[in-house]
Amino acid sequence: MTTENASIKERADNFFVGTYARYPAAMVKGEGCFLTDGDGRKYLDFLSGIAVCSLGHCHPKVTEAIQSQAAELVHVSNLYYTEPMTRLAEILVANSFAEKIFMANSGAEANEAAIKLARIHAGEGRYEIISLLGSFHGRTLATLAATGQPKFHKGFEPIPQGFLHAPFGDLQALEKMVTDRTCAILCEPLQGEGGVRVLQREYLQGIRDLCDKHGLLLIFDEIQTGLGRTGTLFAHEQSGVTPDIMTLAKGLANGLPIGAMLTTNTIAASFIPGTHGSTFGGNPVASAAAVATLNVMLEDGFLEGVRAQSTYFTEELQKMADRYPALLSGVRGSGLILGAVLTEAGIAIGTDIVNRMFEKGLLMNFAGNLVLRFVPPLIVTKEEIDALITALAEVLAEF
Ligand SMILES: *Cc1c(COP(=O)(O)O)cnc(C)c1O
Repeated sequence: MTTENASIKERADNFFVGTYARYPAAMVKGEGCFLTDGDGRKYLDFLSGIAVCSLGHCHPKVTEAIQSQAAELVHVSNLYYTEPMTRLAEILVANSFAEKIFMANSGAEANEAAIKLARIHAGEGRYEIISLLGSFHGRTLATLAATGQPKFHKGFEPIPQGFLHAPFGDLQALEKMVTDRTCAILCEPLQGEGGVRVLQREYLQGIRDLCDKHGLLLIFDEIQTGLGRTGTLFAHEQSGVTPDIMTLAKGLANGLPIGAMLTTNTIAASFIPGTHGSTFGGNPVASAAAVATLNVMLEDGFLEGVRAQSTYFTEELQKMADRYPALLSGVRGSGLILGAVLTEAGIAIGTDIVNRMFEKGLLMNFAGNLVLRFVPPLIVTKEEIDALITALAEVLAEF
């Protein structure tokens, strides 16, 4: 007998280009921290659609906002004004350093906007952008060029020019790469895809100083770290360092495709009609979902809740690392983007651990070939963390 999962998998495998090695489950329903597949199996989701569904699946307030906006107006393009996108901009500006916003539909598009803005703002001949080794900035050609992981570049040469990669966390090496062609430094305050690697506050302050000294723009890619993920609305708030440009996407609309580039009035003035654009950017339905998402995140106690769960989850993961030192060497991360760092022996079976967790109904992933990454919905409960920890202990004991 073919099950619903198997039937959907078989049909899909006929058609989709092979960019993903999917798990053998077709998800049909989501609620809070749980997903249900076509065969009725339930999963506890510590991946959240890759750090996207921060309020959990199908949060009632977001669903309500999507439904009522979809019944009013779905799309008009950026040739006209709409209220949801305007409201979204007001909330983002009121809660960040930014004064101006460009709306896009994904993280890579938000970064493309940032790269183009940094270049046009700097003027002719100043086009180089320095990012970090181990970074991830997207899959379009320019954002791929900015991504500091050579494995992603292979086969796509020639890669767009003007992107340099500095060693992780090394300020001196970074400064040596600055020339009169440099226009910006681009970095994630904490590398997500690269393996939950935290950049120290002193380092972030150091690159801010470097940018000021050499007249460069500082671009923070907060596509993964933004919107409450690290326990503050934006991760950079914890370092006291303010960027000139910030990009957002993943958690912004709790699952609808959206991206945003935020900057100051002065820098934004370099974009004028015709310099950049997007047909769908700021789409009313996606914007309404983002407004509803932000309204929940900005309620009293929400971010404190993220920090409290983070403390508990970090302690539990640390206990696990103490218990299985042959496989885990420690815990790192911030808020609810946490990585259990694998030892060499652990890395060798990282994929097996994640597969076993999947078989037990727990979703998570193996990031940067370095850590078991946990990015649960920010509404995760202590009981759900306990369930994850129990399953992880059972799986680690098997190895
Ligand atoms: C996911 C991610 C991107 C790319 O976002 P897409 O929406 O997949 O284009 C860029 N930067 C960071 C830090 C990310 O985590």
